[in-house]
Amino acid sequence: MATQENCLFCSIIQGKIPANKVYEDEVCLAFYDIDPQAPTHFLVIPKTHIPSCAGVNPDNEGVVGHIFSVIARVAEGLGLHDFRVVSNCGVQAGQSVPHLHFHVLSGRDMTWPPG
Ligand code: 5GP
Ligand code: ZN
Repeated sequence: MATQENCLFCSIIQGKIPANKVYEDEVCLAFYDIDPQAPTHFLVIPKTHIPSCAGVNPDNEGVVGHIFSVIARVAEGLGLHDFRVVSNCGVQAGQSVPHLHFHVLSGRDMTWPPG
């Protein structure tokens, strides 16, 4: 597992910062967002430090497929039928934590396009 110093989500993976976990395996961790934007809002992150979607490449792309499989299973386990998966890539797109993460939001009506 390749974590990075001074990365908030790497610190959560290492247990240095507590999180309300939803699911965990050797590849990824899912935990509830500290500032939920919907009745259900959790994040899924790879255990290896990837800065954003822009850092996905042929060497690590399997992690992303695994994360989407986990999202489907966790959503089913939580009884979520309709949900939105979001990954902000870069500051202008709204990324505030530079460790790849997928938001899973559910439980309210949503609009499109996003703000
Ligand atoms: P971004 O803004 O990068 O797309 O998403 C980062 C998310 O991480 C935000 O929704 C923010 O609320 C969440 N977040 C930031 N710090 C923490 C933390 O310490 N714990 C948890 N559970 N979520 C956090
Ligand atoms: Zn990290």
